[in-house]
Amino acid sequence: MTDTVPPRWQTMPALMYHSVSAVDGPLRDLAVPPKRLAEQLTALTDAGYRLVGLSAALDQLDAGSTDKLLAVTFDDGYRDFLTEGVPALAAAQAGATLYASVGHLGDDADWLGRYSPDFGRLLDWAELAEVAAAGIEIGNHSLVHHPLDVLPPAQLREEIVRSHEELEQRLQSPVRSFAYPHGYHGRRVRDLVREAGHDNATEVGRRLHTPTEHRYAVPRLQPTPDLTGADLVRLVADGGPQLLPRAKQLAQPAWRAVRKVARATGRNLT
Ligand SMILES: [Zn+2]
Repeated sequence: MTDTVPPRWQTMPALMYHSVSAVDGPLRDLAVPPKRLAEQLTALTDAGYRLVGLSAALDQLDAGSTDKLLAVTFDDGYRDFLTEGVPALAAAQAGATLYASVGHLGDDADWLGRYSPDFGRLLDWAELAEVAAAGIEIGNHSLVHHPLDVLPPAQLREEIVRSHEELEQRLQSPVRSFAYPHGYHGRRVRDLVREAGHDNATEVGRRLHTPTEHRYAVPRLQPTPDLTGADLVRLVADGGPQLLPRAKQLAQPAWRAVRKVARATGRNLT
């Protein structure tokens, strides 16, 4: 092993989507409209990427695959994932992982505060089962979508273990993947995620995953509604902001807007 940058096939991009809709205002980058999503997915498959869910991607990397794998994920479980996301993925012959915020199913994403109505309600249990039946991997996004790294032990366990049990019981299927709400995690959180029976987890990260890294903090890139298919192919090939010129790093509108609103409202939003 050397410490040079690994060749492209040794890294794996993962994408973090949220809602499949059009939203105005400071959180607009958390929603990618259906047509734009279809354009982005098609551009990636045309560029030779094989789009799969996160657990499937990690399994194939473990098996030594040198395909251009790309993991596609959607956080929170908005209802528009069933009506708009699933058809777009099917049309692009893409797999994906959907992370359900278990304690909010059937309700609004109340952690978005006054912006939550813009995103519509979250999937209910019957709809989540439909998503699973469509071949989408269902992952765990905790119960109440609270940053986990600051919770006391009993509540942390509740958030991670009970959500996992409930998902597996309701779906009658193993739930392997976990997405940290707001991206926050630490050793204590990661250990409990593993002990609860998940075999991988994902954060925000904004860079490419290297298979030699551990699988409990797979980083993801966030496609925004302003990225054309060609833009996203470039982003995925470049590896995200850390590998882009400084000027482009400064223009990270999505995350910046979310943080700004979060500070203003005293909430975390993704
Ligand atoms: Zn989330």
